[in-house]
Amino acid sequence: MTEGGKSLVIVLPTVGCRHYRESGGCVFCSYAREARGGVTGRELLEVFDRVMETVKRPDPPFAVKIFTSGSFLDPEEVPPDVRRGILARLADDPDVSEVCFESRPEFVRPEILEEVAEVLGGKPFEVGIGLETADDGLRELLRKDVTREEFEEAVENVKEAGGIAKAYVLLKPPFLSEAEAVLDCVESCLYAWDVGCERVSVCPMTVHAGTPVERWWRAGLYRPPWLWSVVEVVVRVKEEAPDLVVNPDTAGAGTPRGPSNCRRCSGRVASALEAFRPSQDVSVFEDLDCRCRGSWREDLTSR
Ligand code: SF4
Ligand SMILES: [Zn+2]
Repeated sequence: MTEGGKSLVIVLPTVGCRHYRESGGCVFCSYAREARGGVTGRELLEVFDRVMETVKRPDPPFAVKIFTSGSFLDPEEVPPDVRRGILARLADDPDVSEVCFESRPEFVRPEILEEVAEVLGGKPFEVGIGLETADDGLRELLRKDVTREEFEEAVENVKEAGGIAKAYVLLKPPFLSEAEAVLDCVESCLYAWDVGCERVSVCPMTVHAGTPVERWWRAGLYRPPWLWSVVEVVVRVKEEAPDLVVNPDTAGAGTPRGPSNCRRCSGRVASALEAFRPSQDVSVFEDLDCRCRGSWREDLTSR
């Protein structure tokens, strides 16, 4: 199954990202700030069980995506016995075809992954790791606090344990023009592919409340990317790496805080990006056009 298949999303109310709690986090992210935080391990399991019992399930088989506003593999967020409990439940659930979760690379350790694979008993699992950009200087400006070596080691560990590695790549970090952002995102996706990721999530910047990016956006110093840029990235990456599963994120599409085109076409282009996810077929973009595409092209050539 590709990443665009049916899925059930579960958000666990953990204390949130350790990088945020200890060093203020990445300049664009408010997930950890929004984390409801502080529930005990037992309560986390109760939340998980309640969601699995009460939520409307997609038709099986489906993937389960676990989000934590941080790292599922961080024992401070999800105690090891709770992690094991959750994975064992998913392993036993015949409707669940794949388990997906996210983690910063420092927690993607061989011994933890071996245990994950063992508890899941052969069920496929995906580990999403935030790369944001392959450009070291830019990643530092984003205050990501992840080196390429750490990222590559984490990917290697996932693969050795039989998992699927996915990179999160940001489209249009601050400090870049539209053209530079497209190029950076394409190169970062291809880097992720080169070092062993089978999937990438292309994440166009959305302006989160309370972040430095929000201050720059309010001051008129930053604008989120065009949706045309998202399409451009997806097409270019699929040209270079047809087997890489590319998942364009459309969160916030068409809003002032998210990726957008003009009002006439934002919805249409976002729908095409969503149609692309399960099909991975770039022909869904062929008939798309709008007058605003000229303005986007002008933006691409200006600095
Ligand atoms: S982007 Fe990830 S690593 Fe950075 S602060 Fe947010 S949750 Fe933490
Ligand atoms: Zn338009």
